[in-house]
Amino acid sequence: MEEKKLRIDKQFKSCPACHYKEQFFEELSKEAIEAGSLNKRVYLIANKQGLTNPASFKLIPIGTKFPAYDIKVDVCPNCGCIYAVRLATGEAEKRMQLLDNQPKLILPHEFNDNGGRPDGIRP
Ligand SMILES: [Zn+2]
Repeated sequence: MEEKKLRIDKQFKSCPACHYKEQFFEELSKEAIEAGSLNKRVYLIANKQGLTNPASFKLIPIGTKFPAYDIKVDVCPNCGCIYAVRLATGEAEKRMQLLDNQPKLILPHEFNDNGGRPDGIRP
């Protein structure tokens, strides 16, 4: 039987309500980067996360893979609409971190922040 997985990697470059192309935090970020007070773009919300149950995470074997997502949200400066500018699914893996020897959930390299299509993502 074929396994069904939600696979999304989309970017939304204009407001879904008024089609305005500028984004509030993107414009603010450009100004701050030019002024030297910021080194990368910020979002209203930027969240990359593997979907696991924190209570049982310690019991799960190293190497276990989890569904994961990446969402970035900005605001339209024209009409105030809050919308996702990046929406992607992927996979995270529980790995041992060498520094403190504690298991961590490692998000995949497939979530990059440069807006390009990530490596290794399966459509
Ligand atoms: Zn708008």
